[in-house]
This record gives sequence, structure tokens and C-alpha cells, in this order.
Amino acid sequence: MPHNPKTTRLPTLPTFRFAPSPNGQLHLGHAYSALLNQALAKANGGRMLLRIEDIDTTRCTPAFEASIYEDLRWLGVEWEGPVRRQSQHFADYQQALSRLIEDGLVYPAFMSRGEIRAFIAESESRGRTWPRDPDGAPLYPAVDRGLSQKERRKRMADGAPFAWRLDVEAAVERIGMPLTWGEYSNEALSETRVVEAQPQAWGDVVLARREIPTSYHLSVVIDDALQGISHVVRGMDLYLATSIQRLLQELLGLPQPDGRKLSKSQQDTGLAALRKAGMTPVEVWRLAGVDPSGAPNPP
Ligand code: GLU
Repeated sequence: MPHNPKTTRLPTLPTFRFAPSPNGQLHLGHAYSALLNQALAKANGGRMLLRIEDIDTTRCTPAFEASIYEDLRWLGVEWEGPVRRQSQHFADYQQALSRLIEDGLVYPAFMSRGEIRAFIAESESRGRTWPRDPDGAPLYPAVDRGLSQKERRKRMADGAPFAWRLDVEAAVERIGMPLTWGEYSNEALSETRVVEAQPQAWGDVVLARREIPTSYHLSVVIDDALQGISHVVRGMDLYLATSIQRLLQELLGLPQPDGRKLSKSQQDTGLAALRKAGMTPVEVWRLAGVDPSGAPNPP
């Protein structure tokens, strides 16, 4: 049964990805995700791809990227090339953003961080509890969602700083709810349950900024589609963010991958530190709960 009649499903080879950001060292949680993606790809005769999520060019470094490849090779994770590096594809994200702007679903938001804080503090001082997103951050007040096109153009021409934000109410109205995704829980990828997306819980999220002309959400949905990702296996920390990504997939007419969530039990111990302390790849595979017979130097 289709989870959502509006969406096309991928009839292709099961395709998995590991998508780290090179803004720090890989840790055990990453190892768990990479190994599980690889194991699922193998078990299902599918593909395993690697994507480097380096849109934040101020925090991502070539040294961290090099250590990702080194840690993965040590661990025995193999991927099909070429690696997709997001910083080389800003034009793809820009194109999708332009489409959403043309569709009137994205608007320039001019409130600075300080103005947002002051607005919320003022509102809360009058007894109103300001709504927060699932990560605990206050929702964008969206005061400027109602600005006229003329006023927007004027402010932009004057060089006022702004971010492009998704008008989540307009977006939800455009596609029509409910919006769902399929979550699978077994190795054979056959058992799925339908999860209902709640994109409004995130408010008007940022889709692009001046200094970074895209965002995590926008780049991920474009890349998952371009790389033909059929199954997204990711940590609990990003589980609820799937709601926004499903909404963007619908708005941009992109296919819908299935999902699997990883429990948040994995420690943030760095892999390089574990390696230096003498831990073997086999031990990391075991810690991740993945059959270690495929690990380098198996027992
Ligand atoms: N780049 C993200 C991270 O390192 C993961 C991306 C995703 O699974 O969507 O946490």
C-alpha cells in the first residue's frame, strides 16, 4: 500500500548513504551509522554511497574530511564512488530555492537574532509562552512574512541582511496533509510502519542564508534524490527533522526514501581516539551490533 498517494516511490536498487559533516572527528555514533548502512546495503544486494555534507565552509575543513576517509578505511567501510561533496553543488540547491521562491513558498526574513530574542522576550513578558520546535528553539516570529513584495524588494535593494525562510503554513496548504513517511525496522526492509510528518512543529525554517546559500534540509533532499537514495538510516537526533524533509520532497516533486532510525545509545567517543587507545575495527563492529565477519582482520 502506498504511504502517500502523491509521492513516487523508488523502484530501483536499494541505495544507502553515509553523510557525515567534516566539522569534527567521526565518533562511535558515526561508526554505527556507517556500518549499519553498509550492512543493510550488502544484505539487500544494494549500493552504499558516501556524501560529504560540507555546506558550512567556515566550520568544515579538508583535514576533517581527510580523517573521515581514514577512519572509514580503517573501519572497513567501503563505498561506491564518486563521493558527492555538497560544497561543489551549490548551483543545484540554488535552483531548487529559486523554484520555491517563485512558487511564493519562501520569503526573505529580515529579523536578526537579537530582534527575534527581543520580540519573544517581550511577548513572554506579557504572559504568552512562545512555541518552541522539537529541539527546544523558539519558532521564528514571522512578523515579516506579511511584508508586501514592494517592501521586500526595497529592503533587499537597500542591502538589509536576510535569510530565506519556508512559509510552512503555505507549504502545508499547497501539498495538503496528511504527509507521511515509511519507517522500516527489519533487515529485509519489508516491515514498515507509517509515520505522520508534523512539519509545522518546526515553524518557518531557514532554507538559505547569505553566508551559506543553502541549508542542511534543502541540500539533503536534493542530494538524496540526485543520488537515488532509497533508504535513509540516521540517528534519532535527526528523526523529527524528517518532517521538514518530507515536506520539501513533496514541494519539489522529489521521490520519497524509506527511513530507519538509530537509537541514541551510541557514545560520542572519537574513532581516532579509540584507534590510538588500541581498539580494533572488529571491536567497533561488535559495539555497533554489526556481524564483525566482514571487518578488516576478522576474528
Ligand atoms: N550530515 C548529518 C550529520 O553528520 C547527517 C545527514 C543526514 O542523515 O541527513 O549529522
